Amino acid sequence: MRWGLIGASNIAASHMIGAMRATGGDVVSVLSSSPERAADYAKEHGIAKGHSDLDALLGGDIDAVYISSTNEKHFPQAMAAIAAGKHVLCEKPLAMSVADAVTMVRAADKAGLVFATNHHLRNAGSHIAIRDLIASGRIGEILSARVMHAVYLPPHLQGWRIDNPEAGGGVIPDIVVHDADTVRFHLGEDPAEVVAIQTSAGMGEGVEDSVMSVWQMQSGATVMTHESFTHRFAGTGIEVHGTKGSIRATGVMTQRPTGHVTLITDAGEEDVPFADHNLYQRSVGLFTDAVAGKGAPSADGIDGIKSLAVASAVAKAATSGARVAVDYGGV
Ligand code: NDP
Repeated sequence: MRWGLIGASNIAASHMIGAMRATGGDVVSVLSSSPERAADYAKEHGIAKGHSDLDALLGGDIDAVYISSTNEKHFPQAMAAIAAGKHVLCEKPLAMSVADAVTMVRAADKAGLVFATNHHLRNAGSHIAIRDLIASGRIGEILSARVMHAVYLPPHLQGWRIDNPEAGGGVIPDIVVHDADTVRFHLGEDPAEVVAIQTSAGMGEGVEDSVMSVWQMQSGATVMTHESFTHRFAGTGIEVHGTKGSIRATGVMTQRPTGHVTLITDAGEEDVPFADHNLYQRSVGLFTDAVAGKGAPSADGIDGIKSLAVASAVAKAATSGARVAVDYGGV
């Protein structure tokens, strides 16, 4: 796979370039809005070409693009890549609105291109083990879930996330989308309605830096989630509770294959083993296979639309105080 990177980003540098190379890919080019940054980034990461013109990158010898620019750029860049016949692996949130996300995904579908969303968590061995326990009935009928995803945003990532709503800043577009995708992955159904309260407790300027929300799933099961940029010591986790057992996982809402998963039933508590592969390599590997006509990406365009729809409903609920029905944009 010959990759073009749209966005000279941290996530590409820290995880994705390595994942592309580890899965046999060639990182051919990178786009930045600044020619100097494009050249510096290309040199630093051993990439042949640095561009500041999207058409030049799209006109090069590439099969697919990985879009990891700031969130407001995803939509126009994805539409241009699709028009140029490139497969798209896009960062979350797919767009600034559900309608734009639907347009992107439909355009890729119409053009016969693979479109995927880089939701890394469903690629983790821990989450695959949790999903398998639920799917095999080990905890019975699902009653509820709780997601703990309140973290401390490291200084090098604070930038646009904490002060630029136009670029898609705020903890809701940043983290609620991941939690929505993870809950959908585990429970195999979509949230129907949400309520939420958000705060700006020291880090966010003009955007929320913490939010708590409660979701009602289509089955009636309830989900509570907590996302934040300001919690240094809270730790992460997810619990899923059923009529025959509970799953308690700690340290698993992360970018690395870490944490513990425990199954609790009438028989007592047992540690659940899980695979420790690299999350991003699995995401890139499945995308690469899908482009080659084998299987499907781990999170496709519909998954990206749905995670954005839940986050948009949480944002609307948090600002209005109302109970909000999730609008999936007709998908
Ligand atoms: P960055 O802030 O690192 O990069 C985003 C854009 O900011 C870049 O495309 C670049 O624009 C600009 N930029 C970056 N560094 C500098 C700099 N030093 N000076 C000037 N401009 C700079 O963003 P992230 O990597 O944190 O996030 C990018 C996307 O990836 C977002 O959509 C985010 O939601 C997503 N993400 C997903 C993760 C996942 O696990 N799935 C994890 C982290 C992020 P330009 O290209 O124009 O130079």
